[in-house]
Amino acid sequence: MMKPISIEELAPLIQGKIIQKNSHHLIEFVSTDSRKIIKSETTLFVALRGFKVDGHFFLKEAYQLGVKNFIIEREVSHFTFSNANIIKVGNALDAMQSLAAWNRSNFSGPVIGITGSNGKTIVKEWIGQLLSVKFDIAKSPKSYNSQTGVPLSIFGIESHHRAAILEAGISKPGEMERLEQMIKPNVGIFTNIGTAHAEGFESQEQKLHEKALLFKDSQFIIYRQDHQAIHEFLIKNFSSDRLISWSQQPGADYTLSIKKEDSESKITLIKPDLGLFTFSTRFTDEASLENLRHAIVAGLTLGLSEQDIRKTIPQLTTIEMRLTLKAGVNQSLIIDDTYNNDLAGLDIALEFLQNQRQKNRKVVILSDLLQAGDSDFVYNRVNALIKHYQIDLLIGVGNEIKQLGLNPPCSTLFFESTEHLLSTINEIPFQNDLILIKGARAFAFEQVVNALQERIHGTVLEINLNALRRNFTFYKQLLEPKTKVMVMVKAFAYGGGATEIAHHLEQLKADYLAVAYTDEGVALRMDKIKLPIMVLNPAPESFPNLIRHKLEPVVYSPSFFKQLGEYCQSNQSHLSIHLDLDTGMHRLGFGEENLKDLVDLIQDYPELHIASCYTHLAGADEAIHEEFTKKQIELFSSMCDAIQNSLDYSPIRHALNSAGIVRYPQHQFDMVRLGIGLYGVEVNGMHGSALQPVSTLKTTVSQIKALKKGQTVGYSRKGSMKRDGKIATIAIGYADGYDRRFSNGNGQVLINGKKAPVIGNVCMDMTMVDITDMEVREGDEVIIYGEGLSIIEQAKSIGTIAYELLTNISGRVKRVYYLD
Ligand SMILES: *Cc1c(COP(=O)(O)O)cnc(C)c1O
Repeated sequence: MMKPISIEELAPLIQGKIIQKNSHHLIEFVSTDSRKIIKSETTLFVALRGFKVDGHFFLKEAYQLGVKNFIIEREVSHFTFSNANIIKVGNALDAMQSLAAWNRSNFSGPVIGITGSNGKTIVKEWIGQLLSVKFDIAKSPKSYNSQTGVPLSIFGIESHHRAAILEAGISKPGEMERLEQMIKPNVGIFTNIGTAHAEGFESQEQKLHEKALLFKDSQFIIYRQDHQAIHEFLIKNFSSDRLISWSQQPGADYTLSIKKEDSESKITLIKPDLGLFTFSTRFTDEASLENLRHAIVAGLTLGLSEQDIRKTIPQLTTIEMRLTLKAGVNQSLIIDDTYNNDLAGLDIALEFLQNQRQKNRKVVILSDLLQAGDSDFVYNRVNALIKHYQIDLLIGVGNEIKQLGLNPPCSTLFFESTEHLLSTINEIPFQNDLILIKGARAFAFEQVVNALQERIHGTVLEINLNALRRNFTFYKQLLEPKTKVMVMVKAFAYGGGATEIAHHLEQLKADYLAVAYTDEGVALRMDKIKLPIMVLNPAPESFPNLIRHKLEPVVYSPSFFKQLGEYCQSNQSHLSIHLDLDTGMHRLGFGEENLKDLVDLIQDYPELHIASCYTHLAGADEAIHEEFTKKQIELFSSMCDAIQNSLDYSPIRHALNSAGIVRYPQHQFDMVRLGIGLYGVEVNGMHGSALQPVSTLKTTVSQIKALKKGQTVGYSRKGSMKRDGKIATIAIGYADGYDRRFSNGNGQVLINGKKAPVIGNVCMDMTMVDITDMEVREGDEVIIYGEGLSIIEQAKSIGTIAYELLTNISGRVKRVYYLD
């Protein structure tokens, strides 16, 4: 909630023109999404033009919800907002950012601004937790760090907050200047700088320069002196009294050295006054230890004592930072958000719940919100959120949350403590429900997740839905705005699980889906997927299902065209179809020689509507096939023209697969067919670092054995110890889709950040890996492919391609979906 502002005060702030004033309502909230409006009368709706969605299309919806104040860029003719105020601006994003800057300027507490290549969100969360021991803190929800995320975060800063922590993320020059004008941090933190990928910058120097713009007017800048490039840049460009450096070695303002032990690390702090202090943490990985030290220095800078910090460190965790979808008891789906519990996070989690596919009931298990401030205000907001998202059952845990029971917006159950809930949880009849589990750390709700989760052991395939979104956006940015995107979700969405991914693609506003067989399309329809679906290989037995489920078959030969046309005629039904034109792939499709027949057939069977014509490129991923590809494209165009001439409408044209989008953007026609790229594999090798792996195949270590030189491992005694050492048996085998060709050192897995080669033959359900000289314990996580272990490389090592490895992951491997 902002300080209330009237439309007259607002207009000059954002250089807008009031074109209508018909309401006296002041503005306290800002929304860009009509689905998320809660206090409509005091909400300002900003019609942003996103890369796919234009807020102007939702003005009517917002008005009907009771919104009285609007910022628009252009007038919409088809209806009037008679009881509202309207400000017209040149650019709605600029306007929203100016309003955010104004809200920031009304806040007198310190603002901490965080930027850098990695760790921003974790550092923000951890500083938030450290500071909230003493102060009431505002912080950006999740990783709201973009041009639209930052203003929305700033609107969440309220008068009762004592400090605010905001993160700033940029991907091109010019963006930080805008973020800085809104955030105006008093204290800045520069987490680190990546060299791996350029993140959209020309050089390291440019990247440093851009990121450091955040600190233009900061009083203090916290950074790690061991990052040479950052250190050199900052001492050259900022006066030394503003810099607060820390380092592993002596010589910085704070020395924070690390001693790693078996299951914890000790951080020793040597302060400028030569005071000495030790913190213990269970983190032993480098990234967490760096993030933690940033948080410690920030805490000290903002006036926390070492004791305050020491108390909170054991509660800091990274694992549950993300919203995770897990299979629950009795076909329920669990959304695990047990990391923290504040209003902003609750709103996001509820929205996530809303966006899942429909189940029986929407259930929320919620602890007290350990958020300082007026508790009436907080729980009124919770009430409003529960009502807005139409929750069916609220299960409250704690003493404070009981007050929701006075005026329940849905069915409720209350428990004094997590123990009380756990003692009766098996008696609550969950059945095919969507269950959001959200609690403050102190409530240890991971136990609740445990109790309701369907047991998954051993091997899982984790699907990162945010990575999916980022990859989708990457390809969208290579395309003209008008080009449609068909996403290939054949073969179980390249192994990732068709329904969940299709559902997400609907949210991302993909235009079309494609599956291999009719059954796959039927399954998607059963799961309420509404997008148009193309079926690549429809068998005649499946014609009734095509019609019944509005699936759109590919037609690839005159005889098949005729067969389908006859079927539709005799059943008096219509179908949209897609014509596969063979221009050189020589798989399925009409050849040039079939064109005349095809044109006649189109006339004979008007029941078949030609939704699109397409061709498939045989060598889009390699430069050596460029000549051939150009010929394919030319032939395709001329065949399309011939078909078009016999029609009084224009079918969609499409030719490019993932590799083609990257290599031949000039031939995108009306639509492209995105496949493997969406799942994080860039087969050209041109933009590999811009994509993120979507799926990570993981398993665990079942047993560790010490073996002597010469002892053999596994069937046929194929593995042999070259020296004394140890092996780990991991819970994955060829029945899970772990290819047997990985046997005998051809494959590697990642354990605790280090690669371990396969020793001996891969078995049906197990594999042995050599872990000599590595620190590994039974139960440790093992990455088979994913972040840190490239699936492309693993595929290469056994002479295949990533496509095969992805689609071979067996159905018995559980799929787990999460947002990072
Ligand atoms: C599988 C497939 C695609 C997608 O190919 P990717 O290489 O995964 O992008 C496109 N078009 C057709 C006809 C396909 O069968």
